[in-house]
Amino acid sequence: MTVQLKNRLASELADLRSSGLLLHPRVLDAANRARTTVDGREVVNLASNNYLGFADHPALKAKAAAYLEQWGAGAGAVRTIAGTLRIHEDFEEQLAAFKHAGSALVLQSGFTTNQGVLGTLLREGDLVVSDELNHASIIDGLRLTKATRKVFKHADSADLDRVLRDHPTDGLRLVVTDGVFSMDGDIAPLGELVRVAREHGAITYVDDAHGSGVLGEAGRGTVHHFGLQDADDVIQVGTLSKAWGVVGGYAAGPRDLRELLINRARPYLFSTAHPPAVVGALSAALDLVQSDPSFMERLWANTRFFKAELQTLGFDLMGSQTPITPVLFGEASTAFEASRALFHEGIFAVGLGFPTVPRGQARIRNIVTAEHTRHDLEQALAAYAKVGRALGVI
Ligand code: PMP
Repeated sequence: MTVQLKNRLASELADLRSSGLLLHPRVLDAANRARTTVDGREVVNLASNNYLGFADHPALKAKAAAYLEQWGAGAGAVRTIAGTLRIHEDFEEQLAAFKHAGSALVLQSGFTTNQGVLGTLLREGDLVVSDELNHASIIDGLRLTKATRKVFKHADSADLDRVLRDHPTDGLRLVVTDGVFSMDGDIAPLGELVRVAREHGAITYVDDAHGSGVLGEAGRGTVHHFGLQDADDVIQVGTLSKAWGVVGGYAAGPRDLRELLINRARPYLFSTAHPPAVVGALSAALDLVQSDPSFMERLWANTRFFKAELQTLGFDLMGSQTPITPVLFGEASTAFEASRALFHEGIFAVGLGFPTVPRGQARIRNIVTAEHTRHDLEQALAAYAKVGRALGVI
């Protein structure tokens, strides 16, 4: 290692350490389930995005194993270079039908999807207006474009209207929002945002990472939740790593969007497609959510129970409307201490502080899933009551 490299690594790490931002991910010693083993301890897991409990579901594993056996371990190449398997194409048709979209294209992850789609759609002379709390992958995707970038106040359609009015352009106008916001658990006011966007001739782009599998009929997502599934001025992107339990990202929209992405989206053109086992598991996930409504029913019953009980205890849930359940602690040090104390009580829930969330709004983000039992949630509530009282938060 050169001296320069050695110094660079040491100084960067020292900066992170001194600002309290050095991360040490906890290690799961078993599959990501509602109750699992973390750092050698059995815990109730409130830290995953595994909304429907699909990550270790037998139906997904069986179809993954079947596709692995029949189609092999890897896709072999980038899709344009003889790496597109029939199962990739079939799954995209299944996904497009599920989303009521003309087409769907799957990319490696939700992160690369935002980069690929925003990078492809937007050019110099275009205007993009993005919610201030949009996900990092949207922010990075927008950095790749030469479009004029503006921000509107979180979930504020009047502010969106102002920004669009203040920035006339002949180019494409795109409004970008998360469907469900990952740190606060609130739902974007999509009906209002689309109405304002339309008044200004703008298209709306919804990242539904946390809405798919959670909202709308059979988990079709936030766009369906608002009855906008047949709107031809709404583009949906999302991830296949959260409710769908596996990995991947997708864009769903008109056929020409897919065609253009195949030709221009850099993650599609330059990175190898998903292995067959991933496609098999995802295909089983879509079948399962449509054939068995009990997953979503359990998810929402658990969500309602857990949130109502936390509120009765006196915790501030920051206006969340979904299974994402933030519990406000204020100072980052308090949130991190609470997370450690909860872990000691057998509850795995992660503390989030600045810069992930605004200063003074440090929280623990809990995610309720369909897989949690009432007993799991009662154990978590008892731990919250004990820790909240000890820290003087309730
Ligand atoms: N968009 C949003 C809103 C997200 O919360 C996430 C997940 N952190 C992503 C995109 C990225 O998805 P993936 O994990 O599939 O890359």
